Amino acid sequence: MLPSDAFEVLPEESAEPSDFVLVNTCGFIADAKQESIDVILSEAQRRKRGDTRHLIVFGCLSHRYGMDLPALIPEVDEWFGARDLSPVVKALGVEPRPELQFKRRYSVSGKPYAWLKISEGCDRRCSYCAIPFIRGAHRSVPMEKLVEEARTLASLGAKELILIAQDTTYYGLDIYGRRSLAELLRKLSEVDGIEWIRLHYSYPEGFPDDVLQEMASNPKICKYLDIPLQHISDKVLHNMHRGVTGEWTRSLIRRLRSEIPGVVLRTTVIVGHPGEGEAEFSELLDFVREARFERLGAFRYSEEEGTWGAANLQDDVPEEEKQRRYDVLMSLQGGISSAYNSSRIGSIERVLVDDVVAGKLITRSRYESPEVDGEILVDVPEGMDAHSFIGQFLDVRIKEADDYDLFAEVI
Ligand code: SF4
Repeated sequence: MLPSDAFEVLPEESAEPSDFVLVNTCGFIADAKQESIDVILSEAQRRKRGDTRHLIVFGCLSHRYGMDLPALIPEVDEWFGARDLSPVVKALGVEPRPELQFKRRYSVSGKPYAWLKISEGCDRRCSYCAIPFIRGAHRSVPMEKLVEEARTLASLGAKELILIAQDTTYYGLDIYGRRSLAELLRKLSEVDGIEWIRLHYSYPEGFPDDVLQEMASNPKICKYLDIPLQHISDKVLHNMHRGVTGEWTRSLIRRLRSEIPGVVLRTTVIVGHPGEGEAEFSELLDFVREARFERLGAFRYSEEEGTWGAANLQDDVPEEEKQRRYDVLMSLQGGISSAYNSSRIGSIERVLVDDVVAGKLITRSRYESPEVDGEILVDVPEGMDAHSFIGQFLDVRIKEADDYDLFAEVI
């Protein structure tokens, strides 16, 4: 068994050398690859200075480029791929055991939320995406294992579960022969101590009706959905191999808004995909104006070797034009997100306290997911120890808003 301090995280400014530094990388698109490389290079410097005794890199980037990277960054001691973590565990000097994956989970963040990975891999073939080649075919984690993991996480202090997968709505098709996300949501919501359950990465095509109903009726499921749509033009959606049309997408958004009143939608889109001309980009802007996503992220298309798009489509939008479209889109979305934040001033919201920074409680409501959305910064009530609030739910009144964060007081 691992000692209880096996994964003690040293503060960044710690003078003490770390025995191990593990870098988990992403190899999805150019921006994500660059971010991973920047982190590896900065850790390689620390390794060179002797601030680290052993530097290990794993995940999608090293899976894709494992042949080239060791010669380029020799400071890294070991490189591993993305599909099997047991060699990483072995490199830490621990004998991997089958139950390690789900039973002995440690919280290194100390936060009252935890990510729950419900499946791995993807059977789809979106034109721009290398994930299916890196992560392999879709494999769901059996429901009883997920419920057991949720119980363990709750016993460690998690109040919120964030369900992730390459496509959460696909859950169950491989092992139960049917989409089973609604049933999983019901079972997880019965776990004592879990108060909020949040859904990320829900593919629009085949979005299950019973999930929509579960979100509308089960008070533990946050009325928050991360649904990457990528585009709205029929031509671009066809080139992307997304399996949906623009009209079908608009109708799904209308249903989500009408059947789950108050739902907050997060999406991502890609600009500059092959086939996106001025007309298609304008259609995307009109759609973003009309759908008013509370949160939206955008990527600039990059041709990725090994993908269907790289083999069959011509990357026909110049890089400066991709950047221009990205800037126009993000400026439009900035106004929408900011208006949404302002509309919440004066409302009373239930928040979960994640942390304390610079004398403020760092909290989120059901409408903010950690690390990707803004936060609600709350004044500490007079005479109270701020740290005693971490992991607690509070009712707050929103006082002010900026483009990203909200500011509130406890009521
Ligand atoms: S659904 Fe498409 S974008 Fe998402 S992981 Fe699968 S292939 Fe990639």
